[in-house]
Amino acid sequence: MRRCVIQIGFIVLCLLFRQMAAGQEPKTLPLPDDRYKTDILLVVAHPDDEGAATPYLARAMDEGKRVAVVYGTRGSNGGNEYGAEQAGALGAIREIEARKALAIFGISNVWFLGGKDTAGQNVLQSLANWGHGESLEQLVRLVRLTRPEVVLTFLPGTFIGEDHGDHQASGLLATEAFDCAGDSTVFPEQVTGPTKRLEVYFENLRPWQPKKIYYFPDADRDDIFRGKGPEYSVKEISKSSKKAYWRMALESFFLHQTQAKHYIDSVTKMTDAQIEAMATSSGWGEAQHFVLGKSLVGGKVTGDIFEGITSNAIPFARPEAVSGPQQPELAVELAGPWNFYADFRRAHGLTHLPHPEPPEIALQGGTTLLIPLWMRNQTAKPQEIFLAVDLPSGWTVQSGDGKFIVGAKQTAAGRIEVSLPAFTESPSKNAEAQEVTVHAQSAGQPVGTIKLRVELRKKALPE
Ligand SMILES: [Zn+2]
Repeated sequence: MRRCVIQIGFIVLCLLFRQMAAGQEPKTLPLPDDRYKTDILLVVAHPDDEGAATPYLARAMDEGKRVAVVYGTRGSNGGNEYGAEQAGALGAIREIEARKALAIFGISNVWFLGGKDTAGQNVLQSLANWGHGESLEQLVRLVRLTRPEVVLTFLPGTFIGEDHGDHQASGLLATEAFDCAGDSTVFPEQVTGPTKRLEVYFENLRPWQPKKIYYFPDADRDDIFRGKGPEYSVKEISKSSKKAYWRMALESFFLHQTQAKHYIDSVTKMTDAQIEAMATSSGWGEAQHFVLGKSLVGGKVTGDIFEGITSNAIPFARPEAVSGPQQPELAVELAGPWNFYADFRRAHGLTHLPHPEPPEIALQGGTTLLIPLWMRNQTAKPQEIFLAVDLPSGWTVQSGDGKFIVGAKQTAAGRIEVSLPAFTESPSKNAEAQEVTVHAQSAGQPVGTIKLRVELRKKALPE
């Protein structure tokens, strides 16, 4: 009898659960917005920087790839060849120029981080001016929103070239975002969804790990980048536009009237044959080179950008940091962006990234070269350090050499200033970068030798 009651009870319970299950309609949960899913995310600094990649983007769009673009700034510090507008007003115009230039390729998912356009070669100065934290937060948000397979950006490094600090900053932020957008502990409020009333700032994104990152350098020399990534001809004809990729890139560049009105006017007056000849003899016709930063899906260094990429998401990959060299107890070393980049490459597992040795910079003749230094004393006593500088003839030390005392267990910042001679047109004198050497000694023993290659130019961005 008792067994029977238990059995009946069990049957009633089962029926109840079945009824409850049948009565509850399944709810469809919202998924990430597929209109913003992208294959390639291009991260650059200024409106018109996209030109560094547009021939490749045109090819990728032909292959059905989805492309989105992020600009670090609106380029408000640039010149204006078209109208009177400057500063913020110019930035408002340049944003539209960039959107129109990308619309030619069918690219409409375009964002601006709102960093302050900073004329200079020092990436740290650009990052400080952009608001590094806020810019990174927004870029990580955009990576999680657009879920790119591949990130394309400027190479984070400093070189003789245009070497714009903002270009470097865009590459640096893109690298940081590549390495942390997949980490649910970075900006966790972005990957949390609201569960109750008034949790309106949770974004309900998901962590996203891009698969590859490629760079293009802002350097004059290209020998150190050869063979470090894929190369694409720009002379092939686009399936969609029936034009060569270089020509699509040129027509896109025509939208940047504030930046190059005089040049654009001169090109639009040319015949087709003249434009063709101009492209062959100038940068427009040159193949596009990329430098592989990282691939989390294997593939050859020079293989196609999409080699090894499938539509499956991959798990977060924490970057493998490499520890720095053991420091002697007493040492003098180069500081500033040069030293920062050595640390950056180690922190992001990018020690294979090409960089010039010795470090280098191009500066305007008649200005000042600043050599920032760290003087480290880990001994238990104050130490005397003596700095001497070897310079090319005609270059003079203004300040920062001589004798210094660094306290026990202290690190002091030093700064040597060198007056540069005026630039002269004579190519034999200025064309080659010259070597500057700082010798550091303590009690007659060497405690550091710092070399820099410095090229004098008629015009260059400030250091
Ligand atoms: Zn730029």
